[in-house]
Amino acid sequence: MKEKEYRGVSTLKKQNDCNKLCSSFQKEVRYSLVRHQSILDVLSKFQETNARTNRAIIKAVTSCGCIQIHAEKQKIPEDISFSELKEYLDDHLEGQLCQNCQDIIEDELGKVMFYTSALCELLNLDFREILNKELNRIKTLGIYNLR
Ligand SMILES: [Zn+2]
Repeated sequence: MKEKEYRGVSTLKKQNDCNKLCSSFQKEVRYSLVRHQSILDVLSKFQETNARTNRAIIKAVTSCGCIQIHAEKQKIPEDISFSELKEYLDDHLEGQLCQNCQDIIEDELGKVMFYTSALCELLNLDFREILNKELNRIKTLGIYNLR
C-alpha cells in the first residue's frame, strides 16, 4: 500500500511520531500530577481549562480585536447534496489571530491536553489509543461523522 505524502512526511511516519508523542505526554503527565491526584480535582481543572480556552478566544475578539465573529443563521441552498454542505457553511470568523492571542490560546489548549491526559491516567485509559480510535472513526466516516 502506497503511503500518502504530505509536505514530504509520510502519513505512517507522522502517525508513529504522534503515537510516541502521546505516550510520552501521558507518561510525563503521570509524573507531574502532584497537586491534583483526586479525580474531583482533575475533573474541575479539566472544566476550568476548557472555560479558560473559551475566555482566551473571546478576549481575542473583545479585547485585542485581531479576530471578529459575525454570526448569522447558515444559508444552505435546498438543492445541494450532503457532500456539498461544507462549501456553504460559514465559520463566522474573520481576521487572523495575532501572535500574542495565538500564544495564549495555544497555552490554554495545552492545559486542556494536560488534563485530558490526566483524566486518562486516573481512569487507566490510554490517551494514544483514544486518539487512534477517533482517527480511525473519522477516516471511516469522513464527512458523514456528523460532528
Ligand atoms: Zn490578538
